[in-house]
Amino acid sequence: MEMVCIVCPNGCLLDIEGSGDDIKVKGALCPKGIEFAKTELQDPRRALTTTVATVFGDMPRLPVRTADEIPKADLLDAMKKIKTLTVKERLHEGDSVCEDFFGTRLIATADMTRQNINL
Ligand code: SF4
Repeated sequence: MEMVCIVCPNGCLLDIEGSGDDIKVKGALCPKGIEFAKTELQDPRRALTTTVATVFGDMPRLPVRTADEIPKADLLDAMKKIKTLTVKERLHEGDSVCEDFFGTRLIATADMTRQNINL
């Protein structure tokens, strides 16, 4: 099996043989690629970055991301949940939008305070 390592911009093409705990990875320029391949086969995860609706006309969408990576299989359900969320108070970067979000937090990646919004 082949896959591209997405840990850094080098994008090494990984050649993977074996399964379970007996996995051999060729083509990685560093150990991170080997770890990436093993995780990708056993428990693939991704950080989710998107936007959430707000009640504020001057900033109708707030950029957000998961504080940690979540299981790749949960991404569609995570997006469905995000469509149900509305931010009703002005948040700072790093504030929680949702405390319990697929095993981690959903956090703001922008500052909503008035002085930081271009009106
Ligand atoms: S194997 Fe290492 S060098 Fe290659 S893309 Fe992955 S992180 Fe980057």
